[in-house]
Amino acid sequence: MKENTQLVTAGRHPERFGGVVNTPVVRGSTVLHGSMAEWEDKKRRRAADEAGASTYGRFGNATHHALEEAVAELEGGYRSQVFPSGLAACAAALTGLLSAGDHVLLTDSAYSPTRGFLTRVMGRFGVETTIYDPLAGEGIEAFIRPNTKVIYVESPGSETFEIQDIPAIATVAHRHGARVVMDNTWGTPLFFKPFEHGVDVSIQAATKYIVGHSDAMLGIVTCNQEAWPLIRQAAQDLGQTAGPDDIYLALRGLRTMSVRLRQHEKAAIEVATWLEAHADVERVLHPALPSHPGHELWKRDFLGSCGLFAVVLKPQPKAAVTAFIDALQYFGLGVSWGGFESLIIPFDPSGDRVTARWPFDGQALRLHIGLEDTCDLIADLSRGFAAMRQVAESQALAA
Ligand SMILES: *Cc1c(COP(=O)(O)O)cnc(C)c1O
Repeated sequence: MKENTQLVTAGRHPERFGGVVNTPVVRGSTVLHGSMAEWEDKKRRRAADEAGASTYGRFGNATHHALEEAVAELEGGYRSQVFPSGLAACAAALTGLLSAGDHVLLTDSAYSPTRGFLTRVMGRFGVETTIYDPLAGEGIEAFIRPNTKVIYVESPGSETFEIQDIPAIATVAHRHGARVVMDNTWGTPLFFKPFEHGVDVSIQAATKYIVGHSDAMLGIVTCNQEAWPLIRQAAQDLGQTAGPDDIYLALRGLRTMSVRLRQHEKAAIEVATWLEAHADVERVLHPALPSHPGHELWKRDFLGSCGLFAVVLKPQPKAAVTAFIDALQYFGLGVSWGGFESLIIPFDPSGDRVTARWPFDGQALRLHIGLEDTCDLIADLSRGFAAMRQVAESQALAA
């Protein structure tokens, strides 16, 4: 079965729901059993970790299991567990894999709330975190200790866009008995196949492209068979459960993810290429552009690119950057990404980075290219640049 067909069929069982195409929203806490025999049988099936066997709402119902089944299939993992947010998925995966006295290697490009969870929360419970250079590749071996249990990767970083050599890192990790945990949100289940590249546990902030419409929050952890019991147990021990309405939205989003992503991809490359040629732009950070330092690795390992990239402006007075952003009509000013709408957000990694100095002085902006017409988006950015110039020139005159 080809992937587009999988996207349409995965996790769907219309015969169980009177033939309706979409798995319905199943609401429920208590699950009733018809007899002691049925109860005993369900408990046995649950203890045997049979997919879909649930004795209580917190362990999921048909709506949850449909999404878990679909994402496990698309990512190429053994099983998936849904969480109420992407960060909850990151936190639960790490909690399940780490104990007091363990050591984690975390990429310097990681989503900063994940770094906060490891350093603030896991740190309090005796887990030590070392931040490593995302470009370490097999050189990561130098940072491995006897108690290193997890190497956490995120490729590309969702602000700074370094592409990591995941297969090289995974080879080193496995040689030393450590697991590779990946935040695969940018790659999505379609554009990066984590388990073909040595990843043991893959995380999706489903809030982004899987939901795809900026109207729900969800996370999903997908594992290989070896890691699955630990992730499943962590989810249960932490009492993590997501609402069926949000899961329904994720299932609905999933079915069209391929066509949406192909459009986001095409439009983002078009806008990024236009930006790269602009006189006020210092650098565009987009792995699918040949100018990107990780372009060759991206071509080797990824099957596509999404709508998220960054641009660094040439140094400008702050008021000029403000004028640029405020002049935009179609780019909303806000965090998150993966929805149908275009977004822009300024960021400054210089204070967070510990392995290398952020090399740029100009303002960095993260763009999400939505499904609007690219002519309108480029006209919008041109308006922004004109407003920026105007403020910069009037400040220069006044000085
Ligand atoms: C948004 C995001 C998350 C967290 O997802 P939430 O659903 O917002 O908690 C994790 N990783 C990356 C790369 C993200 O962009």
